[in-house]
Amino acid sequence: MRAWALFLERFGGEPEGVWLAPGRANLMGEHTDYNDGFVLPFALGQGVTAAAAVASGALAARRLTLCSRQEPDTAVSVDLDGLAPGQVTGWAAYPAGVAWALEAAGYRVPGACVAIDSDLPVGAGLSSSAALECATALALTSLAGVEIPRADLVTIARRAENEFVGVPTGVMDQSASLRCQAGHALLLDCRSLEVAQVPFDPVAAGAALLLVNTRARHALSDGEYGRRRAECEEAARRLGVPSLRSVTDPADVDRLDDPVLRRRARHVVADDQRVLEVVTLLRSSADVDAYGEIGRLLSQAHASLRDDFEVSWPEADAAVEAMLAAGAAGARMIGGGFGGSVLALAPAASLDTVRDAVTATFAERAWTPPEFLSAAPADAARRVA
Ligand code: ADP
Ligand code: MG
Repeated sequence: MRAWALFLERFGGEPEGVWLAPGRANLMGEHTDYNDGFVLPFALGQGVTAAAAVASGALAARRLTLCSRQEPDTAVSVDLDGLAPGQVTGWAAYPAGVAWALEAAGYRVPGACVAIDSDLPVGAGLSSSAALECATALALTSLAGVEIPRADLVTIARRAENEFVGVPTGVMDQSASLRCQAGHALLLDCRSLEVAQVPFDPVAAGAALLLVNTRARHALSDGEYGRRRAECEEAARRLGVPSLRSVTDPADVDRLDDPVLRRRARHVVADDQRVLEVVTLLRSSADVDAYGEIGRLLSQAHASLRDDFEVSWPEADAAVEAMLAAGAAGARMIGGGFGGSVLALAPAASLDTVRDAVTATFAERAWTPPEFLSAAPADAARRVA
C-alpha cells in the first residue's frame, strides 16, 4: 500500500482511507465516442491510488494539498475557494479540477491532504489521467461524507479533464474507471450514456490478453485529435446526420465525395459495427472460436485505424504485425493514436512467443524496449483501505 506510506511520510499522520481507480483498455470502438457511437472498454488491474484525510486546523479548512509518488518534486497546495480553470497547471490540475467540478456541482469539498501513487504507465493510452481523477473523486466525496451516483461522478470527473485541465476527451475513460465490473467489458452508448455489462473472460476460453506499451509518443497527437474530430463532424454534416453514429448502412459513406472524409467516416461506421459484433460474440458462446473471431475483428480495426483513420504509429504497426506472425488471434492499437499501447488477444499457450516477437522486432529497429502489461478485466474504482 504505497499511497498509505507516502501519505505518512509527507503528511506525518495516518490517512482516513485509500481509494483505487483503475486504468482501462478499450476492446473495441476507437474514435467512436465523440461520434455518439459505441465503445467497449474494460478496467485494468493497474490503477491510481489516493490516500487521503481531512486537513486539520482552521487554516487548513479550505486547502487541498496534493502529492504524488510519480511527481516527487512537486507538492501542490491550492485554495478551494476561488478555484478556477487555468489556475493550476501540470499534473495537479487533474485532482484540483475534480475538487473544482465537485464544488461546481454543488458539493462542498473539505480541506484535505491527498497522496497519490500509481502502477499505470503515464501517457500510454491506458487512461492514467481518468484514473487519477476518479481516485481523487472517490477520496474527496468519501471525506465529505457524500455518496454520488456513479453516472454523475463520471460527469464530474470528465468536467475536470475537459474544462479545468482543458483536454477535450470523450466520456469513455471516466465511465470505464467508475462503472466497469470484473470479468466484464462495459458496453457504453455514448449517445444515450446507457451502459451494459458484457461477460468478458478470455482466460476461461484459453485465451490471454496482452498489453504492449510501445513507449512511443509522437508530437502530432493533440493537433491530429482535434483535426479528426472536425473531419468527423464535417462528414456527418455532409451526410445530413447529427453524428456519424446515425449512419448504419456502410454504403451511405460512399456518398461522400471527399476521399479523406470518406475514409474517416468509413472507420467510424465500421468500428461502431465491430463493437456490436464483439458484444454479440461475447454474449453468445464466448468459446475458443468466438475469441478467434474477436481477434480477427481486432486486427480489422487496426487496419482501419491505420489506413482509413490514419492515427496509428510505426511502433504499433510493427508490434501488431509481429504478434500476428507469432500466433496472436488479433491485435490493435488502442487510444487516440500517435503513441501509446497495443492490445492483443492470443491463445494462452502462445503468449510467451507473442511477447518475444515484439521484443525482437523492437530490438531489430533499435527502439526503446516495449513494456508488457497483463490485462484482466477488473473492478471499477473502490475503497481499498
Ligand atoms: P493517459 O491518460 O493515456 O495516461 P494523459 O496524457 O491523458 O495520458 O494523462 C497523463 C497525465 O496525467 C500526466 O501527464 C500527469 O499529468 C497525470 N498523471 C497520471 N498519473 C499520475 C500520477 N500517478 N501522478 C501524477 N500525475 C499523474
Ligand atoms: Mg488520459
